[in-house]
Amino acid sequence: MATDAPFQPFAEALGPVELVGLDADDTLWETEGNFQNIQARFDELMAPYLASNAVAAAHLDDVERRNLEVFGYGVKGFTLSMIETAIMLSDGAVGGDEIARILGWSREMLTNALKPYPGVVDALELLAVSGLQRSIITKGDLFEQETKVAASGLAEWFDGVEILPEKDVTHYRSLLRRWGADGERFVMVGNSVRSDILPVLELGGWAIWVPSANQWAHEVAEPPWDHPRFAVTPSLANAVALCISQQGI
Ligand SMILES: [Mg+2]
Repeated sequence: MATDAPFQPFAEALGPVELVGLDADDTLWETEGNFQNIQARFDELMAPYLASNAVAAAHLDDVERRNLEVFGYGVKGFTLSMIETAIMLSDGAVGGDEIARILGWSREMLTNALKPYPGVVDALELLAVSGLQRSIITKGDLFEQETKVAASGLAEWFDGVEILPEKDVTHYRSLLRRWGADGERFVMVGNSVRSDILPVLELGGWAIWVPSANQWAHEVAEPPWDHPRFAVTPSLANAVALCISQQGI
């Protein structure tokens, strides 16, 4: 999705590219806004159990972070964290009908139609025509992510789909080994500085940040403005253009 983000090209000249990685959630389609909608409903559901100025979502955020190590990323872990928070905030008084509502929201999030952001299909077509090797690189629950990729109808534009448990240097390195790609010739495009940018720069790759309108607090990090292999573009189309402009194709 286009934002009013600044445009900042790479300071260093990008050489031949062996693999382009594209993040999925909030890069190809909206995700975080859906979580924020459900959090607002959770606040309402929990309001009768709380003092008038307390916010349930703040507690939910703590529980969710604590649970990441156990449940991983995604709707199912988020749902279990909502149930845990509801029991905690109500001192065990939360009822079956309230838990059923939480489960209903979860089902809704997992089965909602998924629409790519405007301009995404055109950008992917441009990337495909360039002939550069390209993969979706996302993280989280395998079943959930595979379902989303299938529902998006975008898989046909990619040579592969990589679903990592965590987007850190270790997992990026093993991914590059699987693809036989050199870190120095790897470009990652995504909306999260923490997941799509910093670990890729650390292993010697190139990273293009396409900021999204909504960002999960867990993913926020200071952008590495002065790094020569860091670029910022307001849209995926601009990011793709930047990848292919220096390839002599
Ligand atoms: Mg993302």
